[in-house]
Amino acid sequence: MDISIEPLDVTVIGGGPAGISACLELCTLTGLSIALLEGEQELGGMPRSCHIFFGLRDRKRFYTGPSYARKLDRLVRKTGARIYTGFRVLDLVTGSPGDAHELHVLSPEGPLCIRSRFILLATGCFESSRSERFLPGTRPSGIFTTGTLQQLVNLRGLKPGDRALIIGSEHVALSSVLTLKRAGVSIAGLVEGDLRLNTYASVAASMSRFFGFPILKNTAIHRIFGSSRVEGVELLSGRSKETLHLDCDTIVMTGRFRPDSSLIDNTPIEKDPYTLGPAVDTAFMTSVQNIFAAGNVLRGADTHDLCALEGRLAARSIIRNSRTSKQKIFRYIPMRAERPIRYVVPQRIMPMPKRFFSKFLPWPEIQLEKTLLRPTLEAWSRKERIWQGAYRRLLGNTRIPLPIEKFLWDRVDPALGVTLRVIQGV
Ligand SMILES: Cc1cc2nc3c(=O)[nH]c(=O)nc-3n(C[C@H](O)[C@H](O)[C@H](O)COP(=O)(O)OP(=O)(O)OC[C@H]3O[C@@H](n4cnc5c(N)ncnc54)[C@H](O)[C@@H]3O)c2cc1C
Repeated sequence: MDISIEPLDVTVIGGGPAGISACLELCTLTGLSIALLEGEQELGGMPRSCHIFFGLRDRKRFYTGPSYARKLDRLVRKTGARIYTGFRVLDLVTGSPGDAHELHVLSPEGPLCIRSRFILLATGCFESSRSERFLPGTRPSGIFTTGTLQQLVNLRGLKPGDRALIIGSEHVALSSVLTLKRAGVSIAGLVEGDLRLNTYASVAASMSRFFGFPILKNTAIHRIFGSSRVEGVELLSGRSKETLHLDCDTIVMTGRFRPDSSLIDNTPIEKDPYTLGPAVDTAFMTSVQNIFAAGNVLRGADTHDLCALEGRLAARSIIRNSRTSKQKIFRYIPMRAERPIRYVVPQRIMPMPKRFFSKFLPWPEIQLEKTLLRPTLEAWSRKERIWQGAYRRLLGNTRIPLPIEKFLWDRVDPALGVTLRVIQGV
């Protein structure tokens, strides 16, 4: 079948919280032609298969994941945006400055090419696979990521096993506990390689007591047993160097999120070396003119409501840019981070008062590789310290707002930019 879509003003790729919220904002404020492309058959993104506590900061009330996804679906279908589900974008070809960009799409009717002046990437993130985590042992069935587990249990009503071991301690590990319990699976334990948990320790401890499973910190998977199905694991304690055998038929690998950014692989769009997502400026624009990115494609996982708020802000930037044919040249200051800071997003900052950003959005943000006690964060430019902040505790793998309004911007060398460091902390 010959299908074609005439050139568009804005194409949003990804129908999760970030993409839908961007569409809602674009449609209320402009007469632009807008399309939303979603690879799955249904809109809503990741929340479709998650359970509780959705919508607080963006919709100002609590939903379950599926009802939040349905609400966004209903709202966006009432707008003038054209919604295309089952449309997977396979390739992005960037145009020269001022020209439209091109998307190669696989639709239910066949391949097609869409040209669009503005593009918003809102393709979300995924968890690292077993091979990316270098888990040793045999390769039986019964090893899932949380995403797969949630789809099996929450979307298909299946029971994935009888006794599960959870690897990782980011917030999503606690979601796995609830999903497993809902499916009637007992929990053999939760294993974290670091000395500390990467989530709220008190919540994890309460869950461990309530559901009766051990939390094993500073512990690594030494071996996985089983030929056709997982039969157990051997764990190695980093402290005592002792091994421990646990029986289980299911392993759930949680966290270690990575942006779903393969669309920019063969483009000139600059990638952040740590997140592997597109590097953006404070207006959510990538290094290629009129291509923007928002939501978890920027970093790995953060909560849905913050992604939704980012989508909204990115849409406002697109609207501002659509009103002028001339590209304004701003002087953005490059931001860098040293380990154990995993990343800083956005990677290019225009100094401006905090009130310019959303009141509810901790943006710009950093994330640490692991939880630190009593750390001091510092920002440096050339050989001058332009800000210092002491903290009692900073959680790993969690968004931490960067108080850029306190930085001494007049001392910053714009060419060298700003480097963020952790000076102390255990
Ligand atoms: C396993 C898992 C569990 C999570 N649990 C929670 C939780 O309990 N609470 C919470 O707040 N957050 C959770 N998150 C974080 C979650 O990513 C955010 O809540 C939120 O969904 C991010 O919104 P988003 O719009 O950036 O991305 P997503 O919601 O991931 O939406 C991205 C959309 O883009 C589509 N897409 C991707 N590539 C293409 C393409 N090439 N063409 C067309 N469409 C494409 C995808 O199909 C998807 O629908 C979880 C994340 C994961 C991976």
